[in-house]
Amino acid sequence: MNRSALVFLAGVFLPSLILGWLALRTIGEQQIILEKRTAELFQSETDALAGAAKNLMQERADQFREEVAGWLEAATASELAASLSNRTTQISGSAVLFVIGTDSRLVTPTGAAPSRQEETQKFLAENRLFLSGEAETEVYQAQPPAKEQKQASATAAKPERRDYAKSKVEMADSLSQQARSRNVVPQKLAEPVASELASAPQAAIVPEISDFKNATSEGSHGILARFVNDKLQWIFWTRPDGVAGMTFGCMVPAEGVRDWFRELQSPSARTELGLAILDERANPVFVSKAGFKANWRRPFVATEIGDVLPYWESTAYLLDGAMLDSAAMASRVTIFSVIALALAAIVAAGFFVVRDARRQIELATKKTGFVSNVSHELKTPLTSILMFAELLETGAGNDPEKRNKYLRIITLESERLTRLINNVLDFAKMDKKGKAYAKHLTDLHPVIERIWEGTGLHLEASGWKCQWQAADPPYDVHADPDAISQVIVNLISNAEKYGASAKSLELHTWKESGFLHIGILDRGPGVPEGEELKIFEAFYRANDLLSSGIPGSGLGLTLALRIARDHDGRVDYARRTGGGSCFTLLLPLAEEDTL
Ligand code: ADP
Repeated sequence: MNRSALVFLAGVFLPSLILGWLALRTIGEQQIILEKRTAELFQSETDALAGAAKNLMQERADQFREEVAGWLEAATASELAASLSNRTTQISGSAVLFVIGTDSRLVTPTGAAPSRQEETQKFLAENRLFLSGEAETEVYQAQPPAKEQKQASATAAKPERRDYAKSKVEMADSLSQQARSRNVVPQKLAEPVASELASAPQAAIVPEISDFKNATSEGSHGILARFVNDKLQWIFWTRPDGVAGMTFGCMVPAEGVRDWFRELQSPSARTELGLAILDERANPVFVSKAGFKANWRRPFVATEIGDVLPYWESTAYLLDGAMLDSAAMASRVTIFSVIALALAAIVAAGFFVVRDARRQIELATKKTGFVSNVSHELKTPLTSILMFAELLETGAGNDPEKRNKYLRIITLESERLTRLINNVLDFAKMDKKGKAYAKHLTDLHPVIERIWEGTGLHLEASGWKCQWQAADPPYDVHADPDAISQVIVNLISNAEKYGASAKSLELHTWKESGFLHIGILDRGPGVPEGEELKIFEAFYRANDLLSSGIPGSGLGLTLALRIARDHDGRVDYARRTGGGSCFTLLLPLAEEDTL
């Protein structure tokens, strides 16, 4: 039994568990791949939006250049420089125009012009030193191709150059620190860092430390961004041909640039995504859907826009945040249930197989016991018969009393033998196709009387006390009298076998609730507790021959119950007060008797 359980465990259950585990692992991996694909897909959306933002800045730069070129068609460079304070650029109402002379000094504005006095003063205070080449500061600008390589190697060698020797511009140190990490932590990073959630990843852009002259020494135009008093501002500059090295520029404050993004067209048509452009403080300056809100610092994916808009991010948020999770959850639940069902089926099948195997083994054990019991039971009467027959043969039976006694014993033993053989044969017959009964309306009283006389007389002769409490006859039932006799004889025979210590046999017959009750009572040890139902199972013996010394086949009660049931009746067992057993055969009374 334990072996079959082990085989089941090793051959079926464990492999199934391993298969289940492998399936779960595969799902997990599939999930990761799916999420990665989605992240890549969405990343391309934020890349496109970042591209649109860069284009917008570039368009404004081109617009400004064309504007300056237009002005220079109508006036000379110095005339333009002189009249610049009275002009406004189309690109932004809040922009301040300026001119740097050939000597790299700020020519315009001077601060003396009457219009926009306050703005001009502020501009000069913040930018004069930087624009005149007297102060270096951190500047961000998209690298002109020629400069790119130089810059890359310089940054690699001295990535954190913080030499402010020439600087007269105060910069908040905290800002510089803060400026080095991104201000969003995307849930899905293109290149995951070790502790993704612990801190914001490093920004890809690196500022240069430079003054305006050096920063713009290469190329003829450009966009430059820098922090002034913790706020970003942009400088659009152009050095048109034929103006003898003069630089025309305009400074656009953060508000001006933010305004441009209000009209940006989203390049994405995806409905499940909310796109946004966040400024350097992670505040949205553009959202793809009106009224859309999110935890701005925790986008699903994000792209840094780059030097032209330093620390600005193009971000994407899942509008139905649970979308990915719920899809994953649904597939997980399905697979889990399938695996659980499969496991349950295996366990149930295993349980039934093991139970069946156990039953088969029990039956086999019972049958083996049965064979040894029956052989013993056959041997005992045969030995007695042989012995007394031999005695008679040798003349020991010349004394008529002795001879009668011997013959009586031979008869009884033969009857016992017949009973046993009948039981075995009947059982075999019933097991195959059912016993054929010759049922008819019959009075069982004389039948019982005959049995009682036979056994009673013989038992009393051996010192038994026998008593029959009988209700008035007739006991009319529809039955096969031979079959019913077999039941009663079996029950009396059991009382005789198991009640031999007390030598008391009682037979009670009464009518109740439409049934004829035939009770056989003894004062033996009774059926052990908990085995009251098992004794009716085939081959089952509560008191085995080995332990009790009482021979038996374990078939007597099985047959009794089957015959009773075949007559619409039953056999009940009850423990007697004061010790002993009471087996009662109940048979339905024929109708006239019921009344
Ligand atoms: P057998 O008597 O041949 O063993 P039975 O089917 O007649 O088979 O009885 C089954 C078991 O029921 C017996 O082995 C015995 O343990 C128990 N049994 C039957 N009748 C009695 C009784 N009158 N008193 C005590 N135990 C009994």
